[in-house]
Amino acid sequence: MTTIANNLQKVLGQMAQACQGAGRAPASVALLAVSKTFGPEAVHSAALAGQRAFGENYIQEAVEKMAALRALAPELAATLEWHCIGPIQSNKTRLVAEHFDWAQTVDRLKIAQRLSDQRPAHLPPLMVCIQVNVDGGATKSGVAPEEAVALAEAVARLPRLVLRGVLSIPDDAPDFEAQRALHARAAAIFERIKAQGFAGLERFDTLSMGMTGDLEAAIAAGSTLVRVGRGIFGARTYS
Ligand SMILES: *Cc1c(COP(=O)(O)O)cnc(C)c1O
Repeated sequence: MTTIANNLQKVLGQMAQACQGAGRAPASVALLAVSKTFGPEAVHSAALAGQRAFGENYIQEAVEKMAALRALAPELAATLEWHCIGPIQSNKTRLVAEHFDWAQTVDRLKIAQRLSDQRPAHLPPLMVCIQVNVDGGATKSGVAPEEAVALAEAVARLPRLVLRGVLSIPDDAPDFEAQRALHARAAAIFERIKAQGFAGLERFDTLSMGMTGDLEAAIAAGSTLVRVGRGIFGARTYS
């Protein structure tokens, strides 16, 4: 088994154990493999080991990686699902709309509108999550909790998007309970949006939270999608 395949098994085991500890069904939490900074060979290894959903932060890097994978393993590449989990600037919305299946980091209506307008007609609608800022840090991405419902309602009306859920990236917290408390804030926002019952919430089912260092706490707080990079691919080096 390759290191990546081995790591994937370990992470899936960790997730299953966290589900058991939280009294949740193992199938209620999915794994997004975060492949930023790693090459197409790493994604290929993970895909051969059965992983299908990949998350990327840097849009240009991701688009090049997708093309490399299509050249390397066309049939396998066609089965993969790509999630944008990095900041989306206005000048990058077209690339996201044309190449990704999901955009999880929508925090402004203007960006959502551009994604909807630019989603090519031959592709299914783009799946989106609203990014919420649960720490209140003014410099962080994400909509403020008190503005999340209004943004969700506006995004849900856009014709070429499907509102799937909420993403959060809380600051590092010192221990399990502190991590869980931050994740619980995002879970509360997810539930508040769901309770509004407006049109366009039919597929609102995704609470994207938890990474290598805090996936157990995120699962305890209700995460349905953990985003794991280092735990699968190893330490990242930035050039
Ligand atoms: C990098 C990143 C991850 C993965 O983090 P790890 O600590 O490597 O698991 C998850 N989510 C987002 C938004 C990221 O930027």
